[in-house]
Order: sequence, then C-alpha cells, then structure tokens
Amino acid sequence: MLERSRCTHVRRNYQECLLPVPEDSPVTICMKHMREAYTWFSDYLDVLYEQRSEHLEEHREYWRHYYNPRRRDTDPVVYYALVGGLIKIGVTRYLYGRMRGLMAEDLLATEPGDEEVEKARHHQFRHVRVKGREWYEDCPELRAHIAYLNSDD
Ligand SMILES: [Zn+2]
Repeated sequence: MLERSRCTHVRRNYQECLLPVPEDSPVTICMKHMREAYTWFSDYLDVLYEQRSEHLEEHREYWRHYYNPRRRDTDPVVYYALVGGLIKIGVTRYLYGRMRGLMAEDLLATEPGDEEVEKARHHQFRHVRVKGREWYEDCPELRAHIAYLNSDD
C-alpha cells in the first residue's frame, strides 16, 4: 500500500505541494487542497442536482464518443460549457474528457488560452457569476461573447 504523509497535489509550476496530509484522510492531499476541492465540488453538485439524473447519463454517453484517451496533451483552451442551465467557464488540456467529466449539456465555445485567460474571463463576467469562481448565468452578454468566439473573424 502506498503511504503518503505529504500532499501529492502538483502545482502549476510542477512542484508538489508537500503540506502534511491528515492521518485518516482517504486521499493524499492536504487540508488546504481538500478545501479547494470541496468548494469546487459542492458548487458542481449544486448545479448537477438541478438536472435530472437520466439526463446526466445521456450527457456522459454523448461525450464518450468524442473522448479519445490517447489524445491527451493538447494546448490549453478556455471552454464555455452549458451544465445544469448555467455556463461554466474553465480551462483544460483535455477538452472532451473534461466535458464528459462535467456531463455537460453542450460545449458552447472554446478559445485558446491558459489559466491567465481563464482568470481574465472570470473577471470580465464577474457580475453574472452565480456561484464559486466558474459558474455563470446563461445571459445575453455571455451568449454574445460566445457568438463572437464562434464567428469567423
Ligand atoms: Zn496540498
């Protein structure tokens, strides 16, 4: 059995976190990263609970067709996904795996960009944010931005 008493979360600079892991923790991450994961996940669950469960499976199946586990390392993209009637703005290097994981109803748009671009978009649309950092109202302003991203120029 693998025993780790230090957090195995890898930071963006590729350094491991290495803060202490609580003794009875089921995962090898520190309290700080557990709290981050909890906040993210509870927001996500709030959104999913608004969808009916049979629809979630449909969405998962849909993305399975696009998801190619061999094609993993792509350039990062900022995505705009419709989940539970809200728009999630996030960044990923595994787009279709991410859509499948989110059980997204629709992938509305993507744009090339990393965490910096994501952060700028979170700031740009902060007045229509619903919860957490990444969940936004499906509103005309965000739809206009999405339409712009999907236009040719
Ligand atoms: Zn940590």
